[in-house]
Amino acid sequence: MTAITQQDVLDRLAKVRGPDRTGDLVSLGLISGVSVQGDKVSFSISVPAERAAELEPMRQAAEKSVSELAGIDKVMAILTAERAQGQAAPSQAPAPEPPRLKPVSQKVTPPKGGIKPKMEIPGVGAIIAVASGKGGVGKSTTSVNLALALQAQGMKVGVLDADIYGPSMPRLLGVAEKPQAIEGRMQPLEGFGLKVMSMGFLVDEDAPMIWRGPMVISALTQMLRDVDWAPLDVMIVDMPPGTGDAQLTLSQNVPLAGAVIVSTPQDIALIDARKGLNMFRKVEVPILGIIENMSYFLCPSCGDRSDIFGHGGARDEAKRLGIPFLGEIPLHMDIRRNSDGGTPIVVADPKSLHSQAYGDIASGVRDRLKAEAAA
Ligand code: ADP
Repeated sequence: MTAITQQDVLDRLAKVRGPDRTGDLVSLGLISGVSVQGDKVSFSISVPAERAAELEPMRQAAEKSVSELAGIDKVMAILTAERAQGQAAPSQAPAPEPPRLKPVSQKVTPPKGGIKPKMEIPGVGAIIAVASGKGGVGKSTTSVNLALALQAQGMKVGVLDADIYGPSMPRLLGVAEKPQAIEGRMQPLEGFGLKVMSMGFLVDEDAPMIWRGPMVISALTQMLRDVDWAPLDVMIVDMPPGTGDAQLTLSQNVPLAGAVIVSTPQDIALIDARKGLNMFRKVEVPILGIIENMSYFLCPSCGDRSDIFGHGGARDEAKRLGIPFLGEIPLHMDIRRNSDGGTPIVVADPKSLHSQAYGDIASGVRDRLKAEAAA
């Protein structure tokens, strides 16, 4: 049997009608990221964000059409709202939206056809969400270093990059391949011994992306359900920043053992972190604690310390709310340089004070998990 090529896949997709029942998916320029790994195929279909739910049948039709190719075992089609930069919008399709997030309504809408509530993931131990009230507080940097610190303590750890608005695990772990599929199951990639899965592996990190409601849930469902994670002691879920529908639905649907909130010491970030706490409380996920990131500034040349964001805000707030405080991480050049260079500090310099701080936080998280399990 001859191997299936990308062209074979495109030929099939050229037979599937576009969103408005005019034209086909290929000639409308909606297909990207076609990956063929043996008998497994994956690709993305760009659709206007607000039409994601309505276009689910089209997604299924695309999967079905490709799965009819001889020798295909598994097809994964993902709806995205991204369009490659510079790519003109097809005339029949609605104009692409600007690359920014629309405000998410506060209403909680459980996904239709999404994962069953609290779906267990066989062979995966504790699943921990790392969340923040807003972006840019160092949630992903904390997630990856916490994961590596847990691993350094002898645990098998995976990271699910659920921050699909801005997936950062490919960059943080310096991993750029496409995931392969074996016997119908996506294989997680590996970075410094961590199993890792990210929407960033499936779509171009630079492409503008707008993910909303159903698309977020559909993508996350696939990354949870269709990926061979087991065996894992701990899975760290790097949540999308904020406390909107997507975050709430995700927290409702993943069997989370607990959540960790990352915050900077600034008041505004704390106000947002409070929203995060309330969200997890609403869905009865135990809060394992708060981490204060960028807690104080350590000058890389003189070693002097300055409390530029007002150190200690998160600790005080944790105390006030009766939530454990897990530790503080300084704002330091080495943390930024190593993270953004694809070698997080816990592996780049495991003996450094920063790595020890992550190690202490990891121990705290484990203690809290044990306490929660006992409770
Ligand atoms: P988020 O996931 O909350 O959006 P990131 O983890 O991507 O935030 O961090 C945002 C930026 O801040 C990145 O460039 C990262 O390297 C940097 N950063 C995060 N934590 C620290 C820290 N403790 N010290 C220095 N830079 C940091």
